[in-house]
This record gives sequence, structure tokens and C-alpha cells, in this order.
Amino acid sequence: MAVSAVCLNGLCTLSFIPSLAYGPAKSNRFIVMAHGTTPHFHNTEGLRQIEVGSKEFQCVGALPPFDHPHIYIDMGKDNEAVCPYCSTHYVFSSRLAAGTSNPLSAIFHADAA
Ligand SMILES: [Zn+2]
Repeated sequence: MAVSAVCLNGLCTLSFIPSLAYGPAKSNRFIVMAHGTTPHFHNTEGLRQIEVGSKEFQCVGALPPFDHPHIYIDMGKDNEAVCPYCSTHYVFSSRLAAGTSNPLSAIFHADAA
């Protein structure tokens, strides 16, 4: 038997669910790619250079709370840009999908930024 608590509007309901019917029902928001939003990248690892698949993005510097002001960077005709805050050298790579980076760990998953 699995116990699950459902809280709605301050009311909590405890229910007992047979283990066979119990499974992970949480949605994994980290798998969902946010389309139509500007990708955010960070350089917490202090890399000299980060390859990105988008020419327009926001650099946050490092993961909060150590982030710098989230600034919008548009490479325009160029294929590279240096962040004026953290001096991270971003290089556009057409091999990468839009919104992704190399290394992938540089992607900042902003919550509805
Ligand atoms: Zn930066």
C-alpha cells in the first residue's frame, strides 16, 4: 500500500493506493524544451569558450545567486560574442540545435523568465 497526500486549498486528503496502481506521475519539466523563448546560458564552470546553437540568447554568468544581470546578447552577423559582464566567449555553432550548447551543462533552465 502506498500513501499519498493530496493538498488542495489547504485541505489535505490522505489516500491509500494499492502499490500496483502507484507510479511516478510527476511531469519532468527539465525534458520539456521551452519553444519561443530566448535560451539562457551560464558559465558557472568558468569555461573560456562555450559553443551555442543560437545567435540570440541571454547570459546569466553563473547559476543564481551568483548570476550577473541577465543580459541579452545578439551576435547579429557575427558568429561569436563576448559577454561584457563575465567575458565568456560565446561561439555560434550551426551543428548545435537552437537553444543548446556545448557543453550542455551551460544551459540555464530558467523558470518562466
Ligand atoms: Zn555573462
